[in-house]
Amino acid sequence: MCGIVGFTGCHQAAPILLDGLSKLEYRGYDSAGIAVRDGEGETEVIKAKGRLKVLSEKTNDGESVPGTCGIGHTRWATHGEPSENNAHPHVSDDGNVVAVHNGIIENYKELQEELAAKGKEPISQTDTEIAAMVIDDCYTGDPEAAIRKAISKLVGAYGFCIIFSDIPETIYAVRNGSPLVAAHTDRGSIIASDMVALVSHTKHYFVLKEGHIAKLTKDEIIVKDENGEVYGPYIHHI
Ligand code: GLU
Repeated sequence: MCGIVGFTGCHQAAPILLDGLSKLEYRGYDSAGIAVRDGEGETEVIKAKGRLKVLSEKTNDGESVPGTCGIGHTRWATHGEPSENNAHPHVSDDGNVVAVHNGIIENYKELQEELAAKGKEPISQTDTEIAAMVIDDCYTGDPEAAIRKAISKLVGAYGFCIIFSDIPETIYAVRNGSPLVAAHTDRGSIIASDMVALVSHTKHYFVLKEGHIAKLTKDEIIVKDENGEVYGPYIHHI
């Protein structure tokens, strides 16, 4: 399981994502990528095999990818060779769901067959792309309902950050077995797979509980439990 960073706020997201991912490099990885969205525009996805430095160079340290909402990932391949195509973020076949994922979806082959029966084919070899397609397949306008339905089908360990194309400036997150911590600051909302990516932003954070869904916007983070009830997360102080 490698690195996840997500940010939505009133600053450019790409440099924050690249900086956060650099703090997670110690975990090891084979490729990296970011997806950034400028307002209601299309989400731009940039990936690179190898060091984070390659991604930074490709994006001029993030400056060539404008937008205040984005998700980033450093990948340690479990399904599919290390390559630019298999690097995260992954986009669902219709472009509606963009996701980064830490962990392994054990039943992705069965899910892939179900999607194939509906004429939906992935373009990568990853379990993650299948998960993004499953979330999209469950989506009928309510992102939390789609995530909840999708995770009821997924078997395995996961931490996901997800952007829906029709919900700008918003990141959704859910996890099972793979950590995610988040914080709201006066610059916006930030989430990561490890506290080390947050410490330069804040000293106050919370741990997303398994099965809870976090909705991050620039103004706040709302967490809902398994029953869809708002859950006030317990804030830890460093
Ligand atoms: N299983 C996913 C993949 O191979 C995620 C690996 C990771 O946690 O970095 O793409």
